[in-house]
Amino acid sequence: RPTVGVLALQGDVREHLAALVSAGADAVPVRRPAELAAVDALVLPGGESTTMDKLLRAFDLFGPVRERIAAGMPVFGSCAGMILLADRVLDRPADQQTLGGIDMTVRRNAFGRQVDSFEQPLRAPRLEGGEGPLHAVFIRAPWVEEVGPGVEVLATTVAPAHAPAGPRHDVADDEAHERTGRIVAVRHGRLLATAFHPEIGEDARVHRFFVNMVREDAVAATQQSST
Ligand code: GLN
Repeated sequence: RPTVGVLALQGDVREHLAALVSAGADAVPVRRPAELAAVDALVLPGGESTTMDKLLRAFDLFGPVRERIAAGMPVFGSCAGMILLADRVLDRPADQQTLGGIDMTVRRNAFGRQVDSFEQPLRAPRLEGGEGPLHAVFIRAPWVEEVGPGVEVLATTVAPAHAPAGPRHDVADDEAHERTGRIVAVRHGRLLATAFHPEIGEDARVHRFFVNMVREDAVAATQQSST
């Protein structure tokens, strides 16, 4: 079983720890550089990316996490975690930095500040694993505006099934239209990011996808060292 850490400075840490365990990993909270050094992979939870950026520095983890990312550690970021993994961020305070690593531009709070939380159907064949659609929960979520050539798009939003037929047109329709067709999950090498919160609820498929990435990585490392 791989040991996967969850950055535990802020955000929904417990939910990620539980989802990782049901996905077949050993899960441990990470608050200190020594704890980071002991894990095979890391999850950056949802919360508030500006706060997490500051806390990463205050806890002397910003540099060490960047170094591990550069050295190839698998990392999964959800929501605020997605923002932390983005090379470029729109609608951020001037002093907000990111760890970076994924060649993408994300827009913070893109789904609208008024709508705090909602569910939206996805098109995400690789994450579904043939077990039916994922129910994605978005909370003041970013979306991905643009990805570089090495980035694989794993999920986009689709229109809700109950969309009204006919000529009806109002603000709610416009918002639903705006939210449709957005990139909300990506993989770039060993980095995975979702704009939604797969740790909420009982469905551990996204965490299983990540734990499989970590396992593939371990297999590749063994093969390399034996050749
Ligand atoms: N809007 C938050 C941010 O910018 C992210 C929200 C979340 O993680 N649920 O960090």
